Amino acid sequence: MENQVGRSSCRRQRVVLFPLPFQGHINPMLQLANILYFNGFSITIIHTNFNSQYTSNYPQFTFRAVLDNDSKDNNLAKLSSKGIGDLLSGIMVLNQCSEESLRQELDQMLIASKQQQEPIVCLITDALWYFTQSVADSLKLPRMVLRTSSLFCVNVYASIPVLEDQGYFNQANSVFDEENIDLGLKNIISPNNERDFKKPEGTELVFDLEERVPEIPVLKVKDISNMRIKGQTDPTAKLLAKMLKQTKASSGIIWNSFKELEEPEFQKICKDFPVPSFLIGPFHKYFPASLSSLLEPERSFMSWLDHQAPKSVLYISFGSAAQLEKQDFMEVVHGLAISKQPFLWVMRPAFVKGSEWIDLLPNWFLDLVGERGHIVKWAPQQEVLAHQATGAFWTHNGWNSTLESICEGVPMICSPFWGDQPLDARYVSDVLKVGVYLENGWGKEEIASAIRRVMVEEEREEFRERARCLKEKVNVSLMKGGCSYESLQSLLGYISLL
Ligand code: UDP
Repeated sequence: MENQVGRSSCRRQRVVLFPLPFQGHINPMLQLANILYFNGFSITIIHTNFNSQYTSNYPQFTFRAVLDNDSKDNNLAKLSSKGIGDLLSGIMVLNQCSEESLRQELDQMLIASKQQQEPIVCLITDALWYFTQSVADSLKLPRMVLRTSSLFCVNVYASIPVLEDQGYFNQANSVFDEENIDLGLKNIISPNNERDFKKPEGTELVFDLEERVPEIPVLKVKDISNMRIKGQTDPTAKLLAKMLKQTKASSGIIWNSFKELEEPEFQKICKDFPVPSFLIGPFHKYFPASLSSLLEPERSFMSWLDHQAPKSVLYISFGSAAQLEKQDFMEVVHGLAISKQPFLWVMRPAFVKGSEWIDLLPNWFLDLVGERGHIVKWAPQQEVLAHQATGAFWTHNGWNSTLESICEGVPMICSPFWGDQPLDARYVSDVLKVGVYLENGWGKEEIASAIRRVMVEEEREEFRERARCLKEKVNVSLMKGGCSYESLQSLLGYISLL
């Protein structure tokens, strides 16, 4: 980016960006904003009133809180302390009731930008802010979409109607806990754990959960169940359908991915989405996620990490939102003990349901932490993954974490919780083959066995070699002539001509 910084002095076009207020969505949006800034665009970030902690790290941007002082937004602020299901409900509410407020905000900004002779050329919003398309249309402002997931995941979401026609969601319903089905949105927050599935008496399962899905051969039938969607009438499926529709109506899609990683998926996207797609990622190779962190990363363990043997430490983090049941948590604790590997575990406060922080850990495990581990509330993840002592990443397969692991050539153990995570876990383990998918839940023996496979046994060399090759592909893609580099150049030209 450095060689393009000079262009900032003659910037005359402004781009307005609107992230979704989750850590995994804020990071790529702010990274994209920085990429655009250092390529000559002025930047305004509009944000809801509960995701503004990081603004001081970006003195070069203008921040505008939208929907602030609005009772509906206050409700959302309250929701932010609860589970992800509540947050997603909040996103749905905002999508339904924010058009007018956003239109007024943008209208004022458009008038001001004309007076300052710095026209706003484009609005870039998270794909899940689907309501912004009609706002942008009414203001004749081009809207581009940032999709923060993999292309694979979007292709699967786009196939929901086909999968429903084939009866896969009947299958999913039959294995869902009835209570979860009634809760609609809340059904997606349970961890991927087959113990959750209860086959109601008298129902016949038509599909074998372990079978591949012919329509999407990467998937197993159980991956569809793990999406926790009832079919097209499910609230989550409706949200996704609206997202896809308004993404197709946008002026283009920006992806935090790179072509070499998802080539067949890219071909499918080009066929199904009639707007330009720009695969310019991974964004964090330009600017670190830590700049937009909502939590302060701890660093006190770094000297410990420096003293560990190369590739000996298991880094464990399940992202910013996942929560684990107490019973599963205890399996993790025992699995780590059995594995005998050193570990660095990011345990956010309230990560375990019903606990404050580490209060549920038995004393014998705390002793073990003293001997060969560290527990922190939040880590500088990119730095940890890049560290020579880190040998594997036990992850929930949030897309940012997945990309960060790929970029450092670190093999993964995959324990997805919800949403796109089970899909990315499948892609990591079965397509890229750089991870072991703990697809049968949280049993301690399976956990210890997965750790041994990626870190101790002979097979680890195969995981490492494939991970190393992927890392190389990323670097080539970002170099002049590489796919991501060239796509970024196209994007910059495209935005400036919108
Ligand atoms: N992250 C971090 N420190 C941690 C855990 C996570 O900086 O201790 C960052 C991580 O680098 C990534 C983001 O938080 O950029 C998590 O995004 P992801 O899409 O992986 O998961 P989500 O939090 O959205 O579930």
